[in-house]
Amino acid sequence: MKQPQTIQRRPTVSVCVGQVEIGSRHPLRLQSMTNTSTLDIEASVAQCKALAQAGADIVRLTAQGVSHAKALGEIHGRLRQEGVDTPLVADIHFNPAAAFAAAETVEKVRINPGNFADPGRTFKKLEYTDAEYAAETDRIRNALIPFLELCRSRGTAIRLGVNHGSLSDRIMSRYGDTPAGMVESAMEYLRVCRETGFDQVVISIKASNVQVMTDTVRLLVKAMDAEDMHFPLHLGVTEAGDGEDGRVKSAVGIGSLLCLGIGDTIRVSLSEDPTAELPVARMLADHCSRVLAAPQFLPDSRRDNPSQPLVAGVDDIPQGYSVADVPLAGPLPQGPVLLRASYPADMSAEEVTVAASVDLGRLLLEGHGDAVEIIAPSLGDERCRSLALAILQATRRRISRTEYIACPGCGRTLFDLQTTLAQVKEATGHLKGLKIGVMGCIVNGPGEMADADYGYVGAAAGCISLYKGRECIERNIPADEALPRLIALIKANGDWIEP
Ligand code: SF4
Repeated sequence: MKQPQTIQRRPTVSVCVGQVEIGSRHPLRLQSMTNTSTLDIEASVAQCKALAQAGADIVRLTAQGVSHAKALGEIHGRLRQEGVDTPLVADIHFNPAAAFAAAETVEKVRINPGNFADPGRTFKKLEYTDAEYAAETDRIRNALIPFLELCRSRGTAIRLGVNHGSLSDRIMSRYGDTPAGMVESAMEYLRVCRETGFDQVVISIKASNVQVMTDTVRLLVKAMDAEDMHFPLHLGVTEAGDGEDGRVKSAVGIGSLLCLGIGDTIRVSLSEDPTAELPVARMLADHCSRVLAAPQFLPDSRRDNPSQPLVAGVDDIPQGYSVADVPLAGPLPQGPVLLRASYPADMSAEEVTVAASVDLGRLLLEGHGDAVEIIAPSLGDERCRSLALAILQATRRRISRTEYIACPGCGRTLFDLQTTLAQVKEATGHLKGLKIGVMGCIVNGPGEMADADYGYVGAAAGCISLYKGRECIERNIPADEALPRLIALIKANGDWIEP
């Protein structure tokens, strides 16, 4: 019979990002990202300082173009003058020239294999012959090698950041928008890194669907192990949204992997003030390190036979359910099981939210549990039930509410994300089962809202585009008309119900 076991953190090479080392035996690093314009030096310096103060080990800023990459140099210089040594990361999409410029100004550059050397997505199905495909991968190699050489000469680390929904047409043509496609997108770049002896690489593979994110990271670890690669991993759930749902999705996705010993640095993305991300990330890191320190019982996956779990206090739990307390100390009982998570009164509501999401979420993702119960005096019964439903929604085991796929915002954001998200939620929160994307920019928004049914996307200053699935239905409409027209679009497609 299986026994409880102590899980070790996956060994990796160490990557130096300025004074901060990631991977190997170094502590889990916490990251966040600014949402100021990178060209606004004062505001960006102030926000970097606030993030460092809140506990960020590393701060990322967007760099749309070469001028933004140069502005990063100024921000970097100002922070060092003021005694803040937090390393900075440039976030690059679709602009290799900006990546080259940023490699000279900051400690790390994030590039997206979906758009570093491949052109922008057309969202059309393209066919590549084997010869065309090979020519394209050669072209990527030729674009990447000089960048790696520059990074090597400057001591700059890189992050290969793959996102669900921003794979290139070329990868899509062979693999579709699948975990295998995301993994191959990263592996192509990693093979070039290895060929050139460049090992200062951290990898992230993110998705807004928690199941897709955790499956893909685990697949990537297998693919790297098979090719004897041991690069550190940055974990995150993209477009997690705000409030309880945002915290729950991040904690389930990131926490499930950390409790398997996978992950060296994390970001909890929230559509809120970026400083709100750090306390949640700290709680998550601390909870998972406590789980990792104790022997754990990991039952075999039951994904092929999942149920739609009941929630104690919302549903009547029939006779005959066995209770299993989480984290599990031993095997799950036979027959229907109620997973029960209990927390002491001195844990805050946010700590309970994070801990329960990890403790229940990792089992629910694997198909375990036929009912759940959370007991936590700091939350009270009603919020415990709401949290249980949020965890079931995040693991897609039971859909009971509208799902919002909302980006955290960054220097590219074209509208007030937090206010707009609140307004969209207010108007559509009763549409159980619909997935609605609220994305700050047209550059990454349409791809990264992934499987949303409807999308509200910043198109230009003061203008919004509305999507039905992947299709843009209304382009560049004035922002003050966008919400009523989103509602009209949902009605026109028969998905509206009166509140
Ligand atoms: S989708 Fe949001 S977070 Fe992503 S690049 Fe656009 S504005 Fe920034």
